[in-house]
Amino acid sequence: MKRAYVNPDLCIGCGLCVSIVPEVFQLNADGISEVYAETPEDKREEVYEAVDSCPVKAISIIDEDVPAEE
Ligand code: SF4
Repeated sequence: MKRAYVNPDLCIGCGLCVSIVPEVFQLNADGISEVYAETPEDKREEVYEAVDSCPVKAISIIDEDVPAEE
């Protein structure tokens, strides 16, 4: 299972990812983007578009089947 992840230390809150895939990204109370839902099957391309479009490269796709390194 792949899931989008926003690095809150990098995000500048431009809102671009939210406008591209509002089903997955939202701005939190601090004005920083966060992933609030799993990527729907039919929104994968849009999520990759958001990854490519983010001006500070704050979005990554992580594979939840692979344990994160400690
Ligand atoms: S596109 Fe990047 S910088 Fe802009 S809100 Fe989304 S994660 Fe943050």
